[in-house]
Amino acid sequence: MAEKKEEKKEGEEETEEEVKLEVEKEIMEEVPTEEEIEKEIPAITFDVAAWAPKTSIGKAVKAGTIKDIDEILDNGMRILEAPIVDVLLPGIESDLLLVGQSKGKFGGGQRRVFRQTQKKTREGNKPKFGTFAVVGNGDGYVGIGYGKSKETVPSREKAIRNAKLNVFKIKRGCGSWQCACGKPHSIPFKVEGKCGSVVVTLMPAPKGKGLCIEGECGKILKFAGIKDIWSKTKGQTGSKGNLVKACEKALKQLTSVKISQTQIEKLGICEGKIKKNE
Ligand SMILES: [Zn+2]
Repeated sequence: MAEKKEEKKEGEEETEEEVKLEVEKEIMEEVPTEEEIEKEIPAITFDVAAWAPKTSIGKAVKAGTIKDIDEILDNGMRILEAPIVDVLLPGIESDLLLVGQSKGKFGGGQRRVFRQTQKKTREGNKPKFGTFAVVGNGDGYVGIGYGKSKETVPSREKAIRNAKLNVFKIKRGCGSWQCACGKPHSIPFKVEGKCGSVVVTLMPAPKGKGLCIEGECGKILKFAGIKDIWSKTKGQTGSKGNLVKACEKALKQLTSVKISQTQIEKLGICEGKIKKNE
């Protein structure tokens, strides 16, 4: 009886090894294709004349009755069409954040734009690709969006579209006691954002300090138009999705805090874009 059991065990081990080999083969096949797709992404071009708006705000924007994005954001209206942002913020740029990780041995591979997840089904593994996009004009307006799809290109388009729909204003100023120049190169006061275990604290820094922050959050701040910052993070910052969300929440706190008029003048606070006559 004992011999038979041993034989059975051996047989089971073999099948497990075979399964492992199959999985490894699949992984080896998937990784290069992902890299190729990332390189082959074409640039999105936008044509105002060909745009047919569906919402009332979209129609007003195309007709020219709404000329400033502040009219939409200040009145609490929701942007439901991405081309609205394209029209009202002409200098808008987009970038993808490195939230994923390619497969690798010995503690993980390189950081990737797409976060690849898999669902086990009867037919086999069904991969999905999620990505975070950040859009901004580098002058007080920024948006972050998440997109997920079965393939990489649609997920990137979804992410950029969602980022444009989530565009929000930020307040800039000089809250650093070491600088006190009163120009909007940093943030006016300390803010904090939290998502999951991650806590991001942004602090005003003197002029010329640069962005002393983790790389992906640095991208967001660059698109927002902040030049100098000090930061502190706490928690599992390796999970970049939560880190990015915490950073977004911290930036949104800048506009939700009420400030007196004397402080606005003292710290040189300006909301949204910097006015040219100042
Ligand atoms: Zn300053």
